Amino acid sequence: MTWLLPRLAAAMLAVVLGVLLGRLAGELAGAARLGGIVGGAVCIAAVVLVDAWRGQRLMSWLRGPQQGSAPRDAGFWGELGYRVERALRVRELAVENERKRLEQFFSAIEASPNGVLLLDEQDQIEWCNSVAADHFGLDPQRDRRQRVTNLVRAPAFVAYLQGGQFADAVSFVDPLGRRTFSVLVRAYGEGMKLVLSQDVTERERADAMRRDFVANVSHEIRTPLTVLAGFVETMATVPLTEVENKRVLVLMEQQTHRMQALVADLLTLAQLEGSPRPAADRWVAVASLMKRAEADATALSGGRHTIIVDTGDDAELAGAETELLSAIGNLLNNAVRYTPEGGRIEVHWSRRADGGAEIDVVDTGIGIAREHLGRLTERFYRVDGSRSRETGGTGLGLSIVKRLVEAHGGTIGIEDNVPTGAQFVVSIPAATAAMLASIRPAAPT
Ligand code: ADP
Repeated sequence: MTWLLPRLAAAMLAVVLGVLLGRLAGELAGAARLGGIVGGAVCIAAVVLVDAWRGQRLMSWLRGPQQGSAPRDAGFWGELGYRVERALRVRELAVENERKRLEQFFSAIEASPNGVLLLDEQDQIEWCNSVAADHFGLDPQRDRRQRVTNLVRAPAFVAYLQGGQFADAVSFVDPLGRRTFSVLVRAYGEGMKLVLSQDVTERERADAMRRDFVANVSHEIRTPLTVLAGFVETMATVPLTEVENKRVLVLMEQQTHRMQALVADLLTLAQLEGSPRPAADRWVAVASLMKRAEADATALSGGRHTIIVDTGDDAELAGAETELLSAIGNLLNNAVRYTPEGGRIEVHWSRRADGGAEIDVVDTGIGIAREHLGRLTERFYRVDGSRSRETGGTGLGLSIVKRLVEAHGGTIGIEDNVPTGAQFVVSIPAATAAMLASIRPAAPT
């Protein structure tokens, strides 16, 4: 009440002053009493008018956008204006802080690698981040307040949302059938829903590949195992002549080798696809690599082919010797196996202008039809399964070569030379290929 007493005192003072002045003026006119009343009334009116004007100034500031400060005034109106202004500023600051926090919160959700979609009680879109917009094919601005099931028509998603059972996630495929999304819904607030989406295309693909791989491996192992089991049973139950016995043992040995080769290739692949590889820090002489690969191929061919291998002069490659030999060896091995007797197999080493190098393995064998080229380096992909198996193939050779070459920074290309044979081109980058002369200081003269 501290503000009331001074106001009452000032009003009383003004009235007393008015009455006194009125009486003085009234005495001159011979009507002192009337003068006092008029003087008092005029002073009350003046006090009320001044009060109303000061109140009006504050009121018009309050009615406006309250920019700038409240009217500076003394006394009651001054303090009232100051306090209202301070309360407003405190509130504005709190609102601004809240707005910033909300913005930060939304930008954090925006940065999420997963899609986030907020739905109201009627499943209308309240907000979504750009990842969710991409997953569901939405426009974050235009589609606001639209019912999500009118826009996302995937039956699995619509049934999931309407079913109300959100314990597990649901998967659906985009209308073009290219991507698979996993969606999880969590209820919050009063009937609101938080929809989380994740692109699981790669994961699904990897799962499918893993399943295929296991099925392929099982199939590849089961076949020689079945043959072996058959022979073992035959030997156990049927009396065989010495010649028959020997023949059966040879066949059993072949099947055992087949399984051994498969297991060896599987281990190599697992090793290549597993832990990250250390950087190549050894230089391997191309000439010795080529000589060893040639010796292996010649032994495999048994004189049935003409094999010409370019030794690569004094070139060197950075990498692991056994792996580089395995890559070239696998290509030569294939060339021998897929080239009929009398055919020609050549390996050429050449430098490229950019400092890189190329190893070409060319044969005059059965060749590869164009439609198979893109898939040859897939695990277990074969053009002719029976021919591959007959010649001791596992179906893993080229996928191993691809990984080995890539591990050395290179790429592998396959040309369709049907019916004149096949050509494999291994491209090696400049960083991996070097000439001896350029990497070793010149010998002192
Ligand atoms: P495989 O053990 O069956 O030879 P690879 O991965 O080494 O497996 O090769 C995959 C397939 O590519 C082979 O089954 C074969 O059909 C084809 N192929 C590979 N190299 C040659 C080649 N030099 N000539 C013709 N076909 C080839």
